[in-house]
Amino acid sequence: MRVDVVSIFPEYFTPLDLSLVGRARANGVLRLAVHDLRSWTHDVHRTVDDTPYGGGPGMVMRPEPWGDALDALAPAELTPGGLSPDGLAPDGLAPDGLAPDGLAPDGLAPDGLAPDGLAPDGLAPDGLAPDGLALPRLLVPSPAGEPFTQAMAHELAGESHLLFACGRYEGIDQRVLDHAATRMRVTEVSLGDYVLFGGEVAVLVILEAVTRLLPGVLGNAGSLDEESHAHGLLEAPMYTKPAAWRGHEVPEVLRSGDHGRIARWRRDEALARTATRRPDMFAALDPASLDKRDRAALDRAGFQAPPGHVAK
Ligand code: SAM
Repeated sequence: MRVDVVSIFPEYFTPLDLSLVGRARANGVLRLAVHDLRSWTHDVHRTVDDTPYGGGPGMVMRPEPWGDALDALAPAELTPGGLSPDGLAPDGLAPDGLAPDGLAPDGLAPDGLAPDGLAPDGLAPDGLAPDGLALPRLLVPSPAGEPFTQAMAHELAGESHLLFACGRYEGIDQRVLDHAATRMRVTEVSLGDYVLFGGEVAVLVILEAVTRLLPGVLGNAGSLDEESHAHGLLEAPMYTKPAAWRGHEVPEVLRSGDHGRIARWRRDEALARTATRRPDMFAALDPASLDKRDRAALDRAGFQAPPGHVAK
């Protein structure tokens, strides 16, 4: 996977040399390049921000350096039909005869794709430009974005090229995102319901979550299937040696060697933990995924399983 990150603090990304992400970079699974936004400024002060239109506190990131950065890292020739910098051919149509929104002037083909095989947003369904070169997916961290989840991490792990734009101050001029959306897929993504100083930490988090899903990165890929958020549950607590430590013992069942009992215990703990700590996840559980023993375990832990079909 190719990843480009644009930031005014490239040094922020030195941790990506470490641990398994570092190894993924060293062995070429992750081809990461970090770029200084200021290298796309043209004034002596290398200015990237200015006061907000409409007034208010703080500064906003100016569009020009971002526009040049995105042009350099997602060149027009990678976009469908090679759009001009404003995304349009001189006649107002995209050069392949599509209207600016990517639709054929007379509408869509019956399969929902434009006649040349492009999706309605003007991109090929697999995110590839018609010449087979991958288009980047632009990810813009923002507290106003779509919440980042394990499901999104899986989705991003299927991309061939991610491009991250790290905002600072009060964020990036909206026109940068609006213009980018005329030629590539753009997703604003939030780490959670709080506000950080900048997008760099969000990119570190997202890249770590995505990299561990890339083929060959984890020694035991089976562990991905059992961990928290893989199937709507939190994982059961884990223990290692010694069996007793400072008066606390590892639960007997985990030392029993009885794989059936261990699996049942882990499932019961996962259900009770999820119900206790994450009522939102618990309420979202598919009732059909809970069998009688799951329901009994929840009952013992004092929780009412979501009503519905009871699996055997
Ligand atoms: N004015 C913005 C708002 O209220 O939505 C907040 C800007 S914040 C101070 C500066 C930058 O930090 C944002 O542009 C974004 O890149 C990053 N950021 C802050 N909180 C974030 C969050 N919860 N998730 C992802 N990125 C965040």
